[in-house]
Amino acid sequence: SHYSQAKFNLSAPDISHLCADEGIEVAFAGRSNAGKSSALNRLTRQKSLARTSKTPGRTQLINVFDLDEQRRLIDLPGYGYAKVPMAIKLKWQKSLGEYLQKRDSLKGLVVLMDIRHPFKDLDQELIQWAVAAELPVLGLLTKADKLKSGKRKAQLLMAREASLAFCGDVTIHLFSSLNGLGLDNCERVLDQWFGY
Ligand code: GDP
Repeated sequence: SHYSQAKFNLSAPDISHLCADEGIEVAFAGRSNAGKSSALNRLTRQKSLARTSKTPGRTQLINVFDLDEQRRLIDLPGYGYAKVPMAIKLKWQKSLGEYLQKRDSLKGLVVLMDIRHPFKDLDQELIQWAVAAELPVLGLLTKADKLKSGKRKAQLLMAREASLAFCGDVTIHLFSSLNGLGLDNCERVLDQWFGY
C-alpha cells in the first residue's frame, strides 16, 4: 500500500508552521479519543506512527506524515476535550477554519467519529467548514467492532442520512482499527484524493 510508506516529517505547534503549501495533503480530525491515532496506524500499517493518546488534551501538535515528496497525511489535534481552556479552544477553531479555507494543497478531510455517538457539535461544525470550503469529507465511524451487526448497520444508515444535511461531498463509511473493517473503502476514497 502507498500508505505504508508514511514517514514522520514534522510536528507543528500551529498551522502557520506547516510545510510549504505544495503537492497534495489529506487531513485527519476528530474528537479526542475518537480513534484517530489508531486509524492512522492501521492505514499506514505502522504500530506507533501516530501516538495513541493516553492523556487527551495534552500539548496539541499537528503531525505531518509524508507518503512521498508530493503527498502527505496531516494529523490534526483532537478536539472537544473538556479541560482545554476556552481561549485555546477559540484560537484553535479560528486557525482550523482558516486552514480549511486557505490551504491549497488540502484535498480532503477525514473526520473520525465514534460509531456510538457520531456528529457531535464540533464534528458538525468542522464538516460545515469543510463543505463551505468545497472540500470533500470522509466521515469514518470508528470502533465499528464495538457494535453487533444489526446495530452497526443501523448507525451507518442513520449517519448517512444525517450527512445529507450538510449539502456537500460527505461520504460515510464504517471503520475498525481493531479488525480492519472499512479500511478498503477508506483507501479507495483517499486514493482518489491523492490521485493514485
Ligand atoms: P485518538 O485520541 O482519536 O487518537 O484515539 P486513539 O486512537 O488513541 O483511541 C482511543 C481509544 O479507543 C484507545 O483506547 C483505543 O485502543 C480505542 N480504539 C481505537 N480504535 C478502536 C477500534 O477500532 N476498535 C476498538 N474496539 N477500540 C478502538
